[in-house]
Amino acid sequence: MFGVNMLLNELSNYIGSLLEISRFRDYCPNGVQVEGRAEVRKIATGVTASQRLLDAATVWGADAILVHHGYFWRNEDASITGIKKRRIAHLLQHDVSLLAYHLPLDAHAELGNNAQLGQQLGFVEQGRFGEQDIACYGELAQAQTLDQLSAHLVRTLQRTPQVIGKNDRLIRRIAWCTGAAQGYFEEAIALGVDAFLTGEISEQNVHVAHETGVAFIAAGHHATERYGVQALGEHLATHCGMEHRFFDMYNPV
Ligand SMILES: [Zn+2]
Repeated sequence: MFGVNMLLNELSNYIGSLLEISRFRDYCPNGVQVEGRAEVRKIATGVTASQRLLDAATVWGADAILVHHGYFWRNEDASITGIKKRRIAHLLQHDVSLLAYHLPLDAHAELGNNAQLGQQLGFVEQGRFGEQDIACYGELAQAQTLDQLSAHLVRTLQRTPQVIGKNDRLIRRIAWCTGAAQGYFEEAIALGVDAFLTGEISEQNVHVAHETGVAFIAAGHHATERYGVQALGEHLATHCGMEHRFFDMYNPV
């Protein structure tokens, strides 16, 4: 099955329609952000296009690197200097493409970060909320105390979450959104859930958790966003015959 070459523009058209990128208003370009060689056989995936990921992927011999967090964010300085210069120079010197998918990869009903995280954790999705419906709510496979749920997260995500709430609180209904979605906490509370799970936490989330009794779980931005890009890479291996490898570059946040 391995050894099939696909043209970069065919690949980007394929992923673009799969993830329905034209449906989203986003903070960065979705698709090819840096163009490399015309043919792609080996595809590396990772959460963030950091220098460490670029180094590991090019050593492996990737033709293209596919990430959730790419470059050229709306409010960043547009100049190509410093670390941005070094990263882009690395890609151009190695003739390796960078493809990035942000909100479309959070949202996708099957391959998305939120669908995949729910699947990993055994959550039963019942609906969507938040900006462009990227966040999910539903039920646990079976009701657990907050303590039991955090032990489950440690085992599944290989990382200790920061948990705000009463240990013996019974969690039946849960809302979740990968990454930095702490701003959705109150919207999640309005859905009548027992807990909200996201990647990162802010100071005010603690007070809101205490005063509403709804638990807040920060399970890691990186840790919660590892699954969408991996599922997309596996999809490309299965459906397009590509050789795929996911690089999990450790990030404690
Ligand atoms: Zn993110």
